[in-house]
Amino acid sequence: MVWRIVVFLWSQALGLFLGWWYADAWGAAIGGALAGWCWFIGDLWRGARVLRWFRTGDLEAFPGPMRGLWGESIDRVRRLLRDLHLQIKERDRRLEDVFAALQVSPNGLVLLDAEGHIEWCNRTACNHFGFDIERDRMQLLGNLVRDPEFTVYYAQRDHTKDVLLQGRSSTPARPVRLSVQLYTYGEGRKLMLSRDITALEQTDAMRSDFVANVSHEIRTPLTVLSGFVETLQTLRLSDEERARYLSLMAQQATRMQSVVQGLLTLSRLEGSPLPSKSDWVPIQVLVQQCADEGQALSHLLTRNQPRHHTMVFPLPAPAQGMGEIAGAQTELQSALSNLVSNAVRYTPASGSIEVDWRWLDDGGAVFSVRDTGPGIDPKHLPRLTERFYRVDRSRSRETGGTGLGLAIVKHVLQRHDATLEIDSTPGRGSTFSAHFPASRVRKPGTSTVLAQTPVAA
Ligand code: ADP
Repeated sequence: MVWRIVVFLWSQALGLFLGWWYADAWGAAIGGALAGWCWFIGDLWRGARVLRWFRTGDLEAFPGPMRGLWGESIDRVRRLLRDLHLQIKERDRRLEDVFAALQVSPNGLVLLDAEGHIEWCNRTACNHFGFDIERDRMQLLGNLVRDPEFTVYYAQRDHTKDVLLQGRSSTPARPVRLSVQLYTYGEGRKLMLSRDITALEQTDAMRSDFVANVSHEIRTPLTVLSGFVETLQTLRLSDEERARYLSLMAQQATRMQSVVQGLLTLSRLEGSPLPSKSDWVPIQVLVQQCADEGQALSHLLTRNQPRHHTMVFPLPAPAQGMGEIAGAQTELQSALSNLVSNAVRYTPASGSIEVDWRWLDDGGAVFSVRDTGPGIDPKHLPRLTERFYRVDRSRSRETGGTGLGLAIVKHVLQRHDATLEIDSTPGRGSTFSAHFPASRVRKPGTSTVLAQTPVAA
């Protein structure tokens, strides 16, 4: 402001002096007026430059420095604009962060305007509904999601509950189920949230199947038992008949016991801490126990038959043993024995069962049980380790199976970082192999000489 007054006074003084010098008092008056007009026009011109700059709003556009009132105004506006730009940049960055976070959300998110046009959606929503955000931006949602259930849901006012739809990539073999819900916000805008609930529905179905299976497995022997009890209570039976009924009752009780035992084993496996990686179990001990149990079972099952299983087990080199597995001995024993007992139970008496333990190049090892039993149709293989899943229900029952054996095997192996592989050809036999990683096994040196041990009747 001071600069402005100084310039004005200087221009007046100069005008007066030049006017006086040129034509005395009149000259001074005209000189002063001319100087005032020049100052005014110069000021107007500077003001016009500033106004032009305001209109462009471009920080860099103002050419050269300017002093005085206009100069200071420019500096202040420029500083304000710079702060504003920084704030906007910061806000943009935060908004981008928010959108990036929404982009990786496992749930689908679609932002709709008040008319139902898609303004934005994340990748998950694109997968769920088959949207292409570049192509479908500002398209009406109702035109793109055409499931009749959704159309009804979208048209109604109440969106407090979700609607269940098929995902766009759903096929009969791999169904995809979505839970979709609309939320209103702002001035009539909507957020559509979609969740993939396929796994949740499958778990629910598995849980109710499991409860139904357990009830069935327990109820059947219970019904038979109570039938026998009633018979014993109401009928006069000979000693022979009574003994036969009691033996059948004992069988049913054993069956129930096995089912409960299997379920308890599974729940213990689920609830207990993972097996240690530093407790080493000699493979020789596990194999020996498998051989003892397998031969005893074979003996029991084939006692009335003319031929018996031929069973082959690996024998350790006398001094070194067969190596060791890190883990829980009881769990490993139950898993490996289960594979052997299945082979014995499902292989006809004339068949053979070969158990093998071999080292792999990567340092891991495989325990395998090969039989010449009936084999398994490939369509059953993916479900074989499900609880209570049986291919041959009657053979399973006859031989004391519960349908829980392979579920236990799979669980135990998982807990030991191992995997179960099943290779089977219907009519030719099956091979069940437990693959242990190098981190879980250690070699003793060389071992494994095969010895044939046909089971005597
Ligand atoms: P189960 O107690 O009925 O034997 P498992 O879980 O051990 O139950 O096995 C599931 C099903 O897999 C069995 O019912 C049987 O049909 C099939 N299975 C298992 N092992 C063999 C095998 N070695 N040979 C043929 N089928 C087998």
